[in-house]
Amino acid sequence: MSIRAVAFDLDYTLAVPERDRETLLAEAVEQADAPPISRSDYVQAHRQHLTTETRAPIFADLLDGDASDADPEQLATAYREAVTSALVPVDDVEPFLRSLREEYRLGLLTNGPVRAQRSKIEFLGWEPLFDTTLVTGELDAGKPDTAAFEALLSELGTAPAETVFVGDTPGEDIVGANAAGIHTVQVVYDGGPQRDASADATVERDRLTPELPGVIAGL
Ligand SMILES: [Mg+2]
Repeated sequence: MSIRAVAFDLDYTLAVPERDRETLLAEAVEQADAPPISRSDYVQAHRQHLTTETRAPIFADLLDGDASDADPEQLATAYREAVTSALVPVDDVEPFLRSLREEYRLGLLTNGPVRAQRSKIEFLGWEPLFDTTLVTGELDAGKPDTAAFEALLSELGTAPAETVFVGDTPGEDIVGANAAGIHTVQVVYDGGPQRDASADATVERDRLTPELPGVIAGL
């Protein structure tokens, strides 16, 4: 079966924060007068809240038992604004997506609360570049749950074997897409997640635009 659709993860795959998330979190925490929160605790709490409207439940968990008056809503807003405005597209990715779309249907499937992820897509102005953009906050489950990938296939109108998913995180992107029967390409970069041998192919992020078309053609 030949490939008819290519879908992407968003964060660290197509767009990268120009400042590290640890710094952005620390700034938001300071702005909201909250106690320090480590990046690893944040990432763990985020995983428990992939289908929510905002990040407030994540911060409510992280602030649980805290004696300060820090407000999870305020912290969620401060962090959203910091993360969104720090996002930078991977080099040449917009013309690349436009040309890729001449040949394939294109999708985006990103994990996280609705407002957090929709703000990023809006900030980047990327909705028109894709046939469908899915945020797991609007779905029944997040990646790696098969239900998230089934929602993607349904929007793309393609069979798993006709579809490729491109993402950076093994435990979310690669494991999940593989389980749904979708071809997988892992995007790798210095300091990023480990290479996953179960991905059908890997591509260096700074070689994504020149190399991905050939990688897809070789699947
Ligand atoms: Mg990612």
